[in-house]
Amino acid sequence: MTDPLALDAADPLAHFRDRFLAADGVASYLDGNSLGRPLKATADLMDEFIRRQWANRLIQGWTDGWLEWPLTLGDRLGAIALGAAPGQVVVADSTTVLIYKLARAAVDARPGRRRVVLDTDNFPTDRYVLEGIAAERGLELVWISVSPEEGVDPAQVAEVVDERTAMVLFSHVAYRSGWLADVAEINRIAHEAGALTMWDLCHSAGSVPIELDAWGVDLAVGCTYKYLNGGPGAPAFAYMRADLLGELHQPIQGWMGHRASFEMGPGYEPAKGSRALLSGTPPILAMVPLHANLDVLEEATIEAVRAKSLLLTSYALDLADEWLVPHGVEVVSPRTPARRGGHITLKRPGFEQLLEPLWAAGVIPDYRRPDGLRIGPAPLSTSFAEVHHGLSTLRTLL
Ligand SMILES: *Cc1c(COP(=O)(O)O)cnc(C)c1O
Repeated sequence: MTDPLALDAADPLAHFRDRFLAADGVASYLDGNSLGRPLKATADLMDEFIRRQWANRLIQGWTDGWLEWPLTLGDRLGAIALGAAPGQVVVADSTTVLIYKLARAAVDARPGRRRVVLDTDNFPTDRYVLEGIAAERGLELVWISVSPEEGVDPAQVAEVVDERTAMVLFSHVAYRSGWLADVAEINRIAHEAGALTMWDLCHSAGSVPIELDAWGVDLAVGCTYKYLNGGPGAPAFAYMRADLLGELHQPIQGWMGHRASFEMGPGYEPAKGSRALLSGTPPILAMVPLHANLDVLEEATIEAVRAKSLLLTSYALDLADEWLVPHGVEVVSPRTPARRGGHITLKRPGFEQLLEPLWAAGVIPDYRRPDGLRIGPAPLSTSFAEVHHGLSTLRTLL
């Protein structure tokens, strides 16, 4: 078994770990796929924002730049992490709300098509929002069943899309298994049938390289509090391909998406371009951390993050096979690196009872009912020694 200290010594991103605030009593944080850790720079930036920008500039801040943040931060996120040219990404709302806005825009733009395709293992909020839209618009949901250790396969999509399909919605990285979908191929298949495609990037943004423009994605959403370290409840982002802006109309017609917000005139007229994806006053305070996080990701590069991520999850798989599988633990994640996102899931009845002793020992994985333990080592803030320590504690408890 490789020595974790040797892996850390060879890790070109190891020094980024010192950029994060230390967590008292936490020896092994393995839940970067649920809530990323805060950068020291984020604490400084928040303090500075409150004391200087908010306190001094007051409402002048809006015209100093705050009103542009949803678009300028969106463009920056698009360039650094999403493979999106400027003018297509906004930072706003929450993932749930943006799924609603974009999915409604998509199905309303394909009125002759009454079906929406999704998979049974997509994140609950994605499924629930589409159930609501289907009820609201009289649409039929077509479910693809996926095995819990894998995810949506292009052949399964090809089987169900046809001239009745308005839209498909899948996750780039499955939140449970960690399956990494073949986005470009699934888009090709859906587009051949004339359907629009929407991708949930919550579990891939900031962890896996994304090429929204090159992959022909129509619509995408994702959050910034997982691998993008935006903090609890940080706003989400939405992408709409440039040639759909102006054709698709999202239904929450608020003043911030209006052509001329401050004329406060009668009647809604959407702004040109990606601003039309906005609805109300942007959550400026909650966007502050994103500036610091994007600086760090830009410096590290998403390619280097992905390279380390694969080493971390391979290492976790090796340790699980040697230490945990003999105790009845099952690995329910893809072993092929090309099909694996940034986390792995272990399964065993009784994991729930281990949660308290693990936390007491300063080991924090992610527990998913009924018997799943997710190991999500965020590459910029997690060492190989941390993974070793966490899984070794788990072995002892088993
Ligand atoms: C975390 C996550 C969400 C969360 O949506 P919120 O609106 O931020 O609660 C949605 N989809 C996926 C795939 C996720 O992993």
